Amino acid sequence: MKEIMKLFDTHFHFYDKNGEPEEYWNEIKIPELEYVLAVGADFEESKVARDFASKIDNSWFAAGVHPHGADEIKDGIACFDEFKNDDKLVAIGEIGLDYFYENSERETQKKIMELFLEQALKLNLPAIVHCRDQNDKDQAYLDAFEMLKDFSKDGGQFELHCFAGTPFWAENFLDLGAYLGVTGIVTFPAAKNIRDSVKVIPLDRLLVETDSPYLAPVPHRGKPNNPGYVIEVAKKVAEVKGITADECAKITTKNAFEFFRIEGLPEC
Ligand SMILES: [Zn+2]
Repeated sequence: MKEIMKLFDTHFHFYDKNGEPEEYWNEIKIPELEYVLAVGADFEESKVARDFASKIDNSWFAAGVHPHGADEIKDGIACFDEFKNDDKLVAIGEIGLDYFYENSERETQKKIMELFLEQALKLNLPAIVHCRDQNDKDQAYLDAFEMLKDFSKDGGQFELHCFAGTPFWAENFLDLGAYLGVTGIVTFPAAKNIRDSVKVIPLDRLLVETDSPYLAPVPHRGKPNNPGYVIEVAKKVAEVKGITADECAKITTKNAFEFFRIEGLPEC
């Protein structure tokens, strides 16, 4: 009998408006999707992600503040301590720099990212980093690189989620020990640069993710995304790497267990 692949969607956002976690999960679950990480983009969303993880088997959560909301943090990040003893907290994130939208001041984005990187070191958790530049500019990558260089020197581990940079930047971050997350953008016809980057990422540093409800992959483009669509990401990554979708699922799930330091990956 053919074994069913067990995919890990390493990045999705769950909101109250999605309804009850169990109902949502039953609705979007496909047989090939086994594991999922709910990611918080602010304090409230991190609480919702924690609630999701508490109710769904084989799910975990991350807590952090997306760079878009960095300006809203007025009193530091001490409130995030409430998550630190939760068994299902496996990463700090998402955090990072977004100079494309620049919804928050760059200096504030950097300050908040730095605070969370310190917290990741203190709690001995990996960090999920969002990094997006203005078109044809490198400043967000340069700034993130400097911060993450120090972070990794201090023993920190990080993922660049939704990697959309060039092979040059992929290689620079790989040298710091980074894992790189690939979303549905990899399926977009115009995203040749991302497929070129995927080519240089070693198989043991690749993670697949949906970043749902955003970025639905082809053939679902334009519709709301959900973790079940991670299968389209895995298929495209497999095609680019010249491996089967089953192999891609097996490797990226193993990587996710290692990166998030989750025990108990079943042998298969
Ligand atoms: Zn995200």
